[in-house]
Amino acid sequence: MIVHFGASRIELVQGDITQQRVDAIVNAANSGLLGGGGVDGAIHRVAGPTLMQETRMLYPDGCPTGSAVATTAGRLPAKYVFHAVGPVWAGGEKGEPKLLASAYQTCLELSLDHHCQSIAFPAISTGVYGYPIDLAAETALGVTWKFLKQKQHPEVVRFVLFGPGPYGAFARVLESLAE
Ligand code: ADP
Repeated sequence: MIVHFGASRIELVQGDITQQRVDAIVNAANSGLLGGGGVDGAIHRVAGPTLMQETRMLYPDGCPTGSAVATTAGRLPAKYVFHAVGPVWAGGEKGEPKLLASAYQTCLELSLDHHCQSIAFPAISTGVYGYPIDLAAETALGVTWKFLKQKQHPEVVRFVLFGPGPYGAFARVLESLAE
């Protein structure tokens, strides 16, 4: 699904984020930036050891929840990896929506700082961190919609959803925004 937005567009695809040919891919990292399973493990496997070397060297203290930091991308087809730390879902009353929004917002700002024309996101926090996919889709797409309206940049914001369930959740929210 593609929704055009002035000079920009929001794309939803099902697939593997490590295979995306975009300027920046976003990792759903943990705050220690220590690697892990899920999308984080997949990204580090494909990128190779330089990714961990770089995160250790540049960000020895990790990255706070709700923020993101940039590295190069090793053997990935992308130029950069933005390591975003989403919140662990704890019922929704612990500031989770704000923290998730701010993780997405920081990545979009990093894409401007690094002159990226295209960025690909996974559904941050919706795996091991347990964030309900419908609510995560509302936040992810809401932040992106507002950002593109204000900045008309980057040209492509792609959400790479891992399976039909997450894809459907994002598609329902994007359809309602585009009405
Ligand atoms: P978190 O700890 O932030 O919840 P996870 O990696 O456990 O991060 O999951 C985040 C989302 O990424 C989940 O929806 C999961 O299904 C999805 N995912 C896992 N592997 C990939 C991949 N290779 N490409 C895109 N999305 C992926």
